[in-house]
Amino acid sequence: LEENIEMPCIICGQLKSNGIRILSEFICEVCEAEMVQTDVQDERYPYFIHQMKQILYRKDA
Ligand SMILES: [Zn+2]
Repeated sequence: LEENIEMPCIICGQLKSNGIRILSEFICEVCEAEMVQTDVQDERYPYFIHQMKQILYRKDA
């Protein structure tokens, strides 16, 4: 079953089976939850945005 396949999370780099897919990339449920809760003032926010942009730019490559 597809949901049991472990994929490397692009944020934390760990292999996880639960999370969301954006295009061909994967974000685990832990990082997804963190991103949702992360305030724009949080120091990690630019990092999350950076990772997301890498996904989006890769789409056009
Ligand atoms: Zn993760």
